[in-house]
Amino acid sequence: FIELSDIRKVYKDKEVLNLNQLSVRKGEIISVVGPSGTGKSTLLRLIAGLEKTDSGEIVIDGEHLTNVPPQQRPVVYMFQESLLFPHMNVLENVAFGLKMAKVSKNKRYDKSKEMMKRVGLEGLESHFPHEISGGQKQRAALARSLIVHPKVLLLDEPFSSLDTELRKETRRWIKHLLKSENITVLFVTHDLEEAMALGDRVAVLNEGKLQQLDSPHVLYESPVNSFVASFLQGGI
Ligand code: ATP
Ligand code: MG
Repeated sequence: FIELSDIRKVYKDKEVLNLNQLSVRKGEIISVVGPSGTGKSTLLRLIAGLEKTDSGEIVIDGEHLTNVPPQQRPVVYMFQESLLFPHMNVLENVAFGLKMAKVSKNKRYDKSKEMMKRVGLEGLESHFPHEISGGQKQRAALARSLIVHPKVLLLDEPFSSLDTELRKETRRWIKHLLKSENITVLFVTHDLEEAMALGDRVAVLNEGKLQQLDSPHVLYESPVNSFVASFLQGGI
């Protein structure tokens, strides 16, 4: 469903990403982990079209994306501090993508209300961002991403501003929600426990290269090299 081949990205003579091949199935959640500066965000930015690849092919659902501008790609990129628009209430924030897509006002309202219910924000429609909690803001940002039904959701450490308890709570509902949407997800996180809990498979990157892409179980049972083994033990 997502097919990446021979993706290279170089910044000022420094190669930051070099992926031979990466395939993701439809509806799969892939957690992406690896040390800081290893190319995780770069990978998402290339898929989203926010950066240009130096070579290689990005194909999503059979569509070659290399020359497709970011706003026409079937993906949504949600980064760390996905801020809500402060002057819009939660419902208007969630509905934003539909407004851009020129969906009628009644339909926008109905769909956004329904999506708010799905992420557990029922009743907060008329609240403004400063009137809801950090966890609720994350839910709203997610609802805003999902409402346009992207084929692929790119999550770059979306929970890093939440405290430990909230992250744990989020973990419990988000997998269920993403699975019920049957959306394909690349999920970057620094939190190994989170990566293992959410990912159907986990991609381990180091220095721009894919080390291993396997289910959490296989990763722990049979790491392909000493880097993966020590990374999983928290040694790096
Ligand atoms: P972190 O876990 O800290 O978020 P990351 O794995 O997401 O790290 P990237 O942000 O993808 O890492 O960065 C990979 C490498 O590319 C780093 O060495 C970084 O300094 C470099 N880099 C990223 N963006 C640029 C840029 N616009 N210009 C030059 N170098 C960049
Ligand atoms: Mg990053």
